[in-house]
Amino acid sequence: MAPPTDSVELFTWSNSYTHLPDRFFARVSPTPVAAPRWIRRNEEFAKQLGLDPDALLTDAALEILSGNHVPENGDPISMAYAAHQFGHFVPQLGDGRAILLGEILDSTGDRFDIQLKGSGRTPFSRRGDGRAALGPVLREYILSEAMAALGIPTTRALAALTTGETVWRETPSHGAIFVRVARSHIRIGTFQYFAARRDAEGVRLLADHVIERHYPECAEAPNRYRALLDTVIRRQAELIAQWMLVGFIHGVMNTDNMAVSGETIDYGPCAFMDGYNPQMVYSSIDSTGRYAYGNQPNIALWNLTRLAETLLSLLSDEETAAIKEAEAALEMFSPQFEASWLAGMRRKLGLSQEHADDLKLAQDLLDGMAANKADFTLTFRGLCDAAVDADGVQAVRSLFAGPDAFDAWLVRWRNRLAEEGCDTEVRRRSMRSANPLFIPRNHLVQEAIAAAESSGDYRPFETLLTVLSRPYEDQPGFERYTLPPRPEQIVRYTFCGT
Ligand code: AMP
Ligand code: MG
Repeated sequence: MAPPTDSVELFTWSNSYTHLPDRFFARVSPTPVAAPRWIRRNEEFAKQLGLDPDALLTDAALEILSGNHVPENGDPISMAYAAHQFGHFVPQLGDGRAILLGEILDSTGDRFDIQLKGSGRTPFSRRGDGRAALGPVLREYILSEAMAALGIPTTRALAALTTGETVWRETPSHGAIFVRVARSHIRIGTFQYFAARRDAEGVRLLADHVIERHYPECAEAPNRYRALLDTVIRRQAELIAQWMLVGFIHGVMNTDNMAVSGETIDYGPCAFMDGYNPQMVYSSIDSTGRYAYGNQPNIALWNLTRLAETLLSLLSDEETAAIKEAEAALEMFSPQFEASWLAGMRRKLGLSQEHADDLKLAQDLLDGMAANKADFTLTFRGLCDAAVDADGVQAVRSLFAGPDAFDAWLVRWRNRLAEEGCDTEVRRRSMRSANPLFIPRNHLVQEAIAAAESSGDYRPFETLLTVLSRPYEDQPGFERYTLPPRPEQIVRYTFCGT
């Protein structure tokens, strides 16, 4: 391999987080790895970021992104944060296996973090090895890119590579590094870290940093911190609504896994559900169902309440007034979530007008789907055709264990559509853009991981990524990827990346 040189300029750093006081992070370099090899580079996304895609193909890029060479002018850090994990407060977590290489600006001036996940121990590693295993790296790659293709705010995958080292989990596994890009890695838990230390100055500096970086419009508001809280709440309400509309279950909505930027972050034991079931849980560690599909809006509000608590001293000098501000902000979550969700449901159902009983129409369909174990994705995709033709109706009916529930609902829905009198082709097109055909079904993700882990075969991983990059289009020849698992293919549990 050619010796690393800085003549290949992959990144032009524009760091801002490192200008915050030292107590916000630990300066730390990645630990070199034995024999890095690319799994995949996301050239398409690199171009969007304004990076030179050719530079990404060089050995020098491999050296930098494996952590074997710290770029000149680099200032790598691990960020400090705390968290409520499953409802229990842990005052210090932090990046235990991740290093923020630095921040870059894209051609429009938008700021992005470049982070290596699995890059070695840091002062926040506790008893962990600071490394990542191949399976979870591929999982995060697939899920985050699928999410982006669906149009849902998310962190992104810039690259993944193997380290040539073994990591030990329950069994030995191939070591890997995930190169993650985010608008920032600031979490609710980052605010909690300072609040827990009664470091009011730290909370204020962090809040000002977030306003400047993500929500500059808040600086103009009469109470900029209330505006910040309002904005984060609104972003989360919209994000969770989008998750719910595609059947996504995050699986571990601890407060360190909720980004204040409003991006989906930390794809661990997450999954898209097959048959609709509001109580669905995939995570092997979520024994009580705290993070079940249907509980996600409640948990988001619980987490946002923890954020509001950290901001109290900024919301007002007077405690009662501060609590009032926080409560007023938090009260907005549910109506915003419901409005976002219902607007999305109207698009999924092809309703262009708003009627008072739309919520009931949507809920009755979902209740029928739950009672009859209808596949979430295929039911909604099928409705695009069922609105107009008999074959389409038959296809959806066949997804219901007892089709009567669907038949009764279909009559009501068609009557409702008839009242709108919209052009049927126009409606079909708009419904198809709201109802994906391809989601990263758990058994497909598992199949791709298993092939890579057992025999270094990355073809299923590559094919899956290609299919998932166009989730709203029919892709002849790839019907297999649209189907729910057969009983013997079902993957019931997902596991943490740790
Ligand atoms: P997560 O479950 O991914 O949200 O991680 C929770 C915390 O555990 C974070 O502070 C991580 O940095 C830390 N962590 C997870 N895996 C490891 C590891 N292999 N080595 C060190 N720290 C880890
Ligand atoms: Mg986390």
